[in-house]
Amino acid sequence: MAKEGDGAPAEVYRRYLQNGELGFQRCDGCGAAVFYPRVLCPVCGSDALRWRTSSGRGVVYATTAVYRREAEPYNVVLVDLEEGFRMMSRVEGMPAEEVGIGLRVLFADVRRLEAGPAAVDMPVLSSLDPLALALAALAAACLFWLKLGLLRTLGLTALVGLVAKLALG
Ligand SMILES: [Zn+2]
Repeated sequence: MAKEGDGAPAEVYRRYLQNGELGFQRCDGCGAAVFYPRVLCPVCGSDALRWRTSSGRGVVYATTAVYRREAEPYNVVLVDLEEGFRMMSRVEGMPAEEVGIGLRVLFADVRRLEAGPAAVDMPVLSSLDPLALALAALAAACLFWLKLGLLRTLGLTALVGLVAKLALG
């Protein structure tokens, strides 16, 4: 388990991720949740930052799909964790275009991304929304088994989602 004083904030954070945990700091001076990890609190300037383990539960605040040549688009989100900090991440396990603002997500895994000269460990999320999960499964089924094509699949899943929302209230 990572402990405060075990090195630079970025190092401690990386050790949390290597243990499959999402670490953040809480300021003893003002109570702010601090992320990305730092030496001083960005709110009050205190150096009394204590490490905490996040539940990993959050809500998508902003989302975008990144399109690549000859590859599935991937998704980048800003997510508000329930402890009160905001983090950049990805939602995996569902089509990038279907990740919406307000989607409930859970810290799921860590991906190693090659970013220029250095590799960066990035926490990634999965959806906690059963309707979104069901729609993602339906979309995958349509694409791979029924070969409906992307546009018709998106239209169909949007329609099913609308009906499901109306039915569930
Ligand atoms: Zn503070």
